[in-house]
Amino acid sequence: MKPRSHVIDIPTIFAIDRGTRHEVARLLKREGLHRVAIFFDKAMKVIYGADIEASLRAEGIHFHSYCMDTLDYGSIANYSFSLPSDVEAIMALGGGKTIDGAKYIAFLKKLPFISVPTSSSNDGFSSPVASLIANGHRTTVPAAGPYGIIIDLDIIANAPEMFIYSGIGDLMSKITALWDWKFESRHIEVPYDDFAVMIAQKAVNSFVSLSSFDFKDSHFLSEFLYSLCMNGIAMEICGSSAPASGSEHLISHAMDKISKTPYLHGMQVGISTYLVSLLQKNQTDDIRRVYDTIGFWREVKALKIPRQLIHQAIDIAPSIKPQRHTVLHEKKYRDQAQALLITDKILSEVLVD
Ligand SMILES: [Zn+2]
Repeated sequence: MKPRSHVIDIPTIFAIDRGTRHEVARLLKREGLHRVAIFFDKAMKVIYGADIEASLRAEGIHFHSYCMDTLDYGSIANYSFSLPSDVEAIMALGGGKTIDGAKYIAFLKKLPFISVPTSSSNDGFSSPVASLIANGHRTTVPAAGPYGIIIDLDIIANAPEMFIYSGIGDLMSKITALWDWKFESRHIEVPYDDFAVMIAQKAVNSFVSLSSFDFKDSHFLSEFLYSLCMNGIAMEICGSSAPASGSEHLISHAMDKISKTPYLHGMQVGISTYLVSLLQKNQTDDIRRVYDTIGFWREVKALKIPRQLIHQAIDIAPSIKPQRHTVLHEKKYRDQAQALLITDKILSEVLVD
C-alpha cells in the first residue's frame, strides 16, 4: 500500500444552539451563499418552514423550496436534474430521509450541503454517506459531507424522545464498531486509521462520562450532538463507514432486510451494540450504565421485538458485507450471540417470543 495523506472536508458552518433556525440566513450570507434550494420534510415544513423562509427573505436570500419524501435513487436523481442552474447550495431540513436525499443531490450537483436535522435519531446528518433505495434495496452510497451543520436544540428537544434514544443507540455503537475495525485489521488487509479511531473513541467516551442525561437540558443535548458530529468527521477522515459501523450495524441492516416494518435504526443498533459488546468483552459496563440511566431497555421492551428476528439477523449478518471481517463473521461468535439472546438476563427480558 502507498503511504496515505489526508485532505478532508470539515463543516465550514457549524452552529448547535437554542434557536439557530432563526440564524440560518445570516450564516448562509456570512459564507457568501445567496441562492439556495431547500428540501423540507413535509411535516417539518408545516412547523418550521415559515421561520426559515422568513429569515431567508429578511436577509435577501433567494430560495426554491421542495418537499423531499423519497429515498428512491431514481426520483432523487430527477430532482437534481430539475434544479435551477443558479442554485449555490443545497439545504435540508428534516429527518434522515430528507437529509440523505438532499445530501445525495448536493453530491450529484457538486454543491455545498447544509444539514439542518430536526431529529437526532442517527449520525446521518453529519456523515459523508447516504442510505438510498436502488432497485428496491436499501444501499449506502457516497454523498457530500456537510459544508454546514445547523442544529436548533429547541427543535431537537421538541422531537419525540424516541429519536434521542435512537441517536444514543447509534452513538454507543462506536464502541463495538471500533473494536471490530481493529479486529478486522488483524485478520485481513484493510485501510485502518488511528486518527479516525481516536476521534470516534473520544466522541463516544465523552458522552459516556457525562454526569447528566437529561433530554431537555441544553448541555446534554449539545454534548450528545457534538459526539454524533464527530463520528461524521471520523468517517470523512478514513473515507469509509468503518469507524461508525461494525457487526452491530450488520445485525441492524439484516433486520431491515428481514422485517417488513423495521424499527428505528438507532434502536436496532443500540440493542445489537449491547449484545456484541458481550461477545467482544468490550465496555459492556459503560453501555449498561448509560442504558440503565436513560431507561433505554424500557423503550426497547415497549417495541416488542421478536427474539427470533434478531436470531435470524445474526445468521445473515456476515452476508450483508461479506468483504468485511467483524466478530460476527466467525461462526463461533454468531453461535454465542444467539445463545445470549436467551441466557443474558437483560435480553431474555426485553425481547419477546
Ligand atoms: Zn448508524
